[in-house]
Amino acid sequence: MNDQKSLAILGSTGSIGTQALDVVSRNPDRLRVVTLAAATSVELLAEQIRQHKPSLVSVRGPKEAGLLESLIKDDSHQPEIVSGPAGLKRSVTHPDVTSVLNGLVGASGFAPTLDGLGTGREVLLANKESLVMAGDLIRDLLRSGSGSLIPVDSEHSAIFQCLGDRLEHPGLEKIILTASGGPFLNRPAEDFDSLTVEEALSHPTWKMGPKITIDSATMMNKGLEIIEAHYLFGLPPEKIDVVIHPASIVHSFVVFHDGSMLAQLSHPTMEVPIQYALLGGSRRQTRVKPLDLAELGKLEFLPPDSKRFPALDLARTALKLGGTATAVLNGSNEEAVSLFLDGKIRFPMISEMVGSALEAHEVKESSEEAIINADRWAREHVNASFLSTI
Ligand code: MG
Repeated sequence: MNDQKSLAILGSTGSIGTQALDVVSRNPDRLRVVTLAAATSVELLAEQIRQHKPSLVSVRGPKEAGLLESLIKDDSHQPEIVSGPAGLKRSVTHPDVTSVLNGLVGASGFAPTLDGLGTGREVLLANKESLVMAGDLIRDLLRSGSGSLIPVDSEHSAIFQCLGDRLEHPGLEKIILTASGGPFLNRPAEDFDSLTVEEALSHPTWKMGPKITIDSATMMNKGLEIIEAHYLFGLPPEKIDVVIHPASIVHSFVVFHDGSMLAQLSHPTMEVPIQYALLGGSRRQTRVKPLDLAELGKLEFLPPDSKRFPALDLARTALKLGGTATAVLNGSNEEAVSLFLDGKIRFPMISEMVGSALEAHEVKESSEEAIINADRWAREHVNASFLSTI
C-alpha cells in the first residue's frame, strides 16, 4: 500500500511551514510536496522550490508572483506560479494533493480549511483561527463525511494523542489545556499599561511568529484554543479547563469518566506535533531528546488570572454567544494585535477592543458569508474605535 502523503504546505515560509518542510526532507518515503503557498517571503520560497520541486506555488499577489518568477527563471524546475485567493484555492485543490498542512496565520487560513475539507481532503490544522471563525461549518463538513481533520496545535495534538488518534472518545469527561502564561505571567497589573512590543515578543518557552506570540502574552492564544478544543473534541465550554504550566512540558491533559487522566509531555517544540500529524502518528525519530525527569525535578501548575488576562473570559463569552461571535472575537483581536505591533495602542487595549467589539456585535447564524462579513465588521469596529482615541 502506498501511504505517501502528497502535500499542500500553506504558509511554507513561516514558523510551522519551515518546520513541516524539515520533516518532509527527513521522511521522503512518506511525504512529498505538491504545492506550496506563502504570502511575501519570495526568496525563501525560491529556495524551497529548488529543494522540494512543487508542481504549483501560490503567493499573495501579482507583484510577489513576478518577483518569484524572476528569482527562479534560470532554474531547471519551473512550477506553475499563481496568486491571490484563487491561487491559494488552487494550491489546496490541486488534483495530486491528498493532505493540506494549513500553517497560515490568522483569518487568511479559514477559506483554505473549508476548501480542503469540502473537497474531501485531509487537513492538518495549525491555523486555529479556522476553527474559531468557522467551527460550526467545519463540524458540519466532518459530520457529513467530507474530509478529515488532524490538529497540529501542540495542546490539541496532545489531546488527540491521549485519545488514541481520535477527536471523540465516549469516556472523555474533560480537557485541561496547559498554558505557559506568556512573558507577563508574573508582572503586576499596574505594569501592563507600559509594556512594550519587544517585551511582549520575548516568549519564555516557545519560539513562534509575532501574531501568536502577542496572543500568548495576552493569553488570547489560550482563549482561541478553548474554542478550537470545543469544535475539535465536541466538549461544552465548561468541560474545557485551562491551567498555567510555565515550563510548557505537559502539552495538555485529558480526564476520563473513571477519574483517570492522561497527558503528553515533551520539550516545548512544534517538531513533535507537526511530525505526528504529517506521519500519522508513526512515532519515527525526531531531533527532540526525551525529557530527563530527575533533572526536571518537578512540574508546576497554577490557576489562570482572568483579571490581568481578560482574554480567556472574552473567548468563553464569544463561545457562549455562538454564531458569528467567535469570528468577531478573532477579527477584532487580529486587528488590535496589529495596532499594538505597530506601536499604536497600549497592551491592555488589545483585550479592551475585543471586548468592545463583542459587546457591539449583533450575532448572526454561521454561514461562510456571515463569517466573512462579521470578520470585516470586527476589523472596522476596532479601527474606528482606534481613530476615535487619537
Ligand atoms: Mg498552542
